[in-house]
Amino acid sequence: MTSKVWVYAEVQADGTVEEAALEQLTKARDVGTDIGAVAFGPGATAAAATLGRYGARTVFASDDQVFVDCPGWPAATVLHRLAGEHDPALILFGPSSDARDVAGRLQAMTGSTLVSNVDDVVSTECVRMQVFGGTKVVDVALSGPLPRIVIVRAKAFPTRADDGVARVILVDPAVPEATRRARLVERNEQPAAGANVEEARVIVSGGRGLRNAENFELLERIAAVIPNTAVGASRAAVDAGWRPFSAQIGQTGKIVRPDVYIAVGISGAIQHLVGMKDAKVIIAINSDRAAPIFEIADLGIVGDALRIIPEVTRLLEERSE
Ligand code: FAD
Repeated sequence: MTSKVWVYAEVQADGTVEEAALEQLTKARDVGTDIGAVAFGPGATAAAATLGRYGARTVFASDDQVFVDCPGWPAATVLHRLAGEHDPALILFGPSSDARDVAGRLQAMTGSTLVSNVDDVVSTECVRMQVFGGTKVVDVALSGPLPRIVIVRAKAFPTRADDGVARVILVDPAVPEATRRARLVERNEQPAAGANVEEARVIVSGGRGLRNAENFELLERIAAVIPNTAVGASRAAVDAGWRPFSAQIGQTGKIVRPDVYIAVGISGAIQHLVGMKDAKVIIAINSDRAAPIFEIADLGIVGDALRIIPEVTRLLEERSE
């Protein structure tokens, strides 16, 4: 059995590599011996140096425009071809919707095993993940044809760079146009709602306890005085239309692992906890002292968030002057 591990690396046009790929390359070095990265789209070859520093010995790259809009089909088609030629045991993907799209299509083409929401890669034949709303941790044995496909959760592993250099193999991006299933017909961009919750070191999240969309401005204000802070939300707040879905934390939203998570007016339903319980420090503000969120909070404040948040913001603003 080969111990070749590949990482599907999402890259920006300037060669920046998404954090998920750097985490997975770092981890891949612990479980595999022949580490490769696959990078498609503008910036792919420019990303090779970074991918090499994080552990890729080979980078399969194409800067072609075909991967720019709706990358799922062309990326999966080319990856399928490459996997057939080089036989990786395992291909790791990040949790973004584009990466999931490629992984799902690749699985349909190969008929191999796909496991998603993975927390740890134990070996090329075993991954670890939480189930039943995070109440149990299980080891999943990977079997069936190669390559096995694994979608890893955000911030699963620390990153480690060295002076490694990758060999770059330029990939033929040719995809039969007639087989393309998805095409971009219109672009409607959701207005950015502040910093990205998956990247922020601090998240201040609001729930139904905030009562309306306008009160989220209190969270925007406090986020503005704490460096690298994003505003998140519970599903109740998103369903009410107070925040965009991109801010939703939890089972059907984002899984985050910030240094500090501040839950404001959030009860702590299991579906919310799944998304944030791995934060290093959890602070909860809730008017109900029996709210379940206090069971996992490192610091709990019982009281009216609509009074507490402006007061804390004022103190922080005074300090930063
Ligand atoms: P509530 O449960 O209504 O809690 C509001 C809290 O605010 C209460 O604890 C209350 O005491 C407090 N409060 C009220 N006023 C104040 C005040 N002035 N100051 C301070 N505190 C106050 N939920 C998610 O969040 N993310 C998900 O991804 C998600 N996925 C789901 C998937 C499925 C299949 C299902 C069935 C549910 C999912 N849910 C998810 C919903 C989840 O079960 C809860 O309904 C939701 O998390 C509740 O949101 P909340 O805590 O904001 O609201």
